[in-house]
Amino acid sequence: LFVVLEGGEGSGKSTQVREIAVWLRDEGFDVLTTREPGATKLGMRLRTMLLDKANEGMAARTEALLYAADRAEHVDKVIRPALERGAIVISDRYVDSTLAYQGAGRELDPDDVATINNWATGRLVPDLTILLDIPAEEGLRRHADRPADRLESENLEFHERVRRCFLELADRAPDRYLVLDAREPQEEITKAIRRHLRRILPD
Ligand code: C5P
Repeated sequence: LFVVLEGGEGSGKSTQVREIAVWLRDEGFDVLTTREPGATKLGMRLRTMLLDKANEGMAARTEALLYAADRAEHVDKVIRPALERGAIVISDRYVDSTLAYQGAGRELDPDDVATINNWATGRLVPDLTILLDIPAEEGLRRHADRPADRLESENLEFHERVRRCFLELADRAPDRYLVLDAREPQEEITKAIRRHLRRILPD
C-alpha cells in the first residue's frame, strides 16, 4: 500500500506521517516512511542543489528535471523495494508536489511535467493521497517559524497557485484522495486519516 501526504508549507504533513506510522506499527504493519526531495544519498545532494539559495533562479525546467531525477531514485531505490516486500509506504510529498510547485507554481506546461514524471516514476501511482489543505497565507505564517529552506522567488501568489493545483488534482480523482482541512487540530486530522486508512488496509 502506497500512501502519500501532500500539502503546502506549514500544512503539518511531517507530523501526520509520524503519527500514522506509529499507529500502523502498533497495529503490526511493516511501515516505511520517506520524503521528497532527498530520500536517497544522491537525492540528498539534489535536495541541497534545489533548496540552496545560491541556486535561486535556476531555469524552471532545470528545477523540474532535478526533482524528477530525485523522484526516479526515490522510486527505484526506496519505494518499489519496500512495496515489493509488502510494506506500507508513507511518503511526505510525491508527483503532485511537482505538478503543484514546478507546474502551477513555476508555470510550466502541466502536461509536460506530468509526462516527465510518469517516465521518472515508471508510472507508480499512490493508492491514496492525503491532501492537507491550508490557505497559502496561513501556511506561510506557520512555516516562517521554521528554519527557512524556501526560496524567495516563491511569493504568496506562487503558493496560492500551488494550493489551487493540489485541490484540482484531488477533484479530478476523488477516489484516490482524502482532502482534510489542515487548520483542524492535529489530533483530529490524525483520527480522520486513521478512519480512512482502516477501510483500505490489507488484512
Ligand atoms: O516538504 P518540505 O517543506 O520539506 O519541502 C521543502 C521545500 O521544497 C518546500 O519549501 C517546497 O517549496 C519545495 N518543494 C518544491 N517542489 C517540490 C517539492 C518541494 O519546490 N516538488
